[in-house]
Amino acid sequence: MAKGFRALVLHEAEGGGVTAGFETLTDADLPEGDVTVDVAYSDLNYKDGMILNGLGRLVRKYPHVPGVDFAGTVAESAHPAFKPGDAVILTGWRVGESRWGGYAARARVPGDWLVPMPAGLDARRAMAIGTAGFTAALALMKLERFGIAPDPEAPLLVTGAAGGVGSVAVALASRRGFSVTAATGREETHAYLRELGAAALIDRHELSDGTIKPLDKERWGAAIDNVGSTTLAKVLSQMRYRGAVAACGLAAGNDLPATVVPFLLRGVSLLGIDSVLCPMDERKAAWQMIVDHLPGDLIDRISTLVPLGELPALGKEILQGRTRGRVVVDVNA
Ligand code: NDP
Repeated sequence: MAKGFRALVLHEAEGGGVTAGFETLTDADLPEGDVTVDVAYSDLNYKDGMILNGLGRLVRKYPHVPGVDFAGTVAESAHPAFKPGDAVILTGWRVGESRWGGYAARARVPGDWLVPMPAGLDARRAMAIGTAGFTAALALMKLERFGIAPDPEAPLLVTGAAGGVGSVAVALASRRGFSVTAATGREETHAYLRELGAAALIDRHELSDGTIKPLDKERWGAAIDNVGSTTLAKVLSQMRYRGAVAACGLAAGNDLPATVVPFLLRGVSLLGIDSVLCPMDERKAAWQMIVDHLPGDLIDRISTLVPLGELPALGKEILQGRTRGRVVVDVNA
């Protein structure tokens, strides 16, 4: 008889929404793919919070195993690049959305989607980075490739700084030499953000009070924005001449009540960041940037480890902006 493994499974609830519960599955239940992975750790991203709460129509087919990221060891492989025992990372490709993801002790995906574990990283720390941290690295890489360089007179702003993307963005950008200003709504995270490398802190309400002029005082040389809406609009109006904003997230909403004036009169650029369908060479470069700049003990300080059973509750907290840094999920606990 096939060996069973534990999974967190979502079902559509009568009258809307979803219900979450633990079930025992076997390999025969898994989707098709040429690599089967023994999952050690997953994590909690904002998107997982939406999926655990049945929001955003990200999942079209139930029953569903969520978890947009996982890291573990190859158990079976028909893919030439992977053999049993190889350590691997999976982020993106709509895993955990349009196909089953990492909130189970086994997962199966096309091997072309897997990133070999970079030297210097392990499964737990890879998930302490996860999609959120990987997105922060993509954002910084894109800004740098665009020509943005550290300038003490023109700080790099990170919004939603105490969240997952924000924490890793603050840590990475400061280690790449940028003078980082962290915008947060939580005063109790100030010491944490300074420890990660923030040179200055501002209250997020300064950016989201809704007073948006077409052009405001020039404050930022670059920005990594995780918030969207009025915050992104105000940040655009405060960019220095030829500054650039990497737009990563929409924690405050997906609208953008901005004018075109910052683009026309200050040559500001808005760079979109997508971590889901990102090509493999960029993926590997982003993971390498993380390994090269973030020591293991710093990655540990950014993250909290929880057992799989705590997920449905934590899925609500991340949507309310109440989780700090990154949440790593021990799938076998
Ligand atoms: P978190 O919930 O961990 O962090 C979001 C942070 O935004 C919060 O911690 C809070 O920071 C701030 N925030 C929350 N609500 C508001 C609000 N109403 N107004 C202003 N600030 C707010 O999420 P993640 O860091 O994991 O993700 C951030 C965003 O990035 C999400 O929208 C997510 O969907 C998106 N994302 C996009 C990816 C991509 O490929 N482009 C990949 C991964 C994530 P503080 O307490 O410091 O104020």
